[in-house]
Amino acid sequence: MTPDDDVLGRCPDCATKITRAWILIEYENTEGQTGVWAECPECDDVVEPQ
Ligand SMILES: [Zn+2]
Repeated sequence: MTPDDDVLGRCPDCATKITRAWILIEYENTEGQTGVWAECPECDDVVEPQ
């Protein structure tokens, strides 16, 4: 188990589990929380893991 195996959440479109290995962008929102955009390995699209 490496940090890349950490599950961020699921794709909102297909419910595939997305791990840290798929992160494209990490950002901090106006409330100081970290948000993540990642590539879904199923959809081949950029999604926000839920
Ligand atoms: Zn997906």
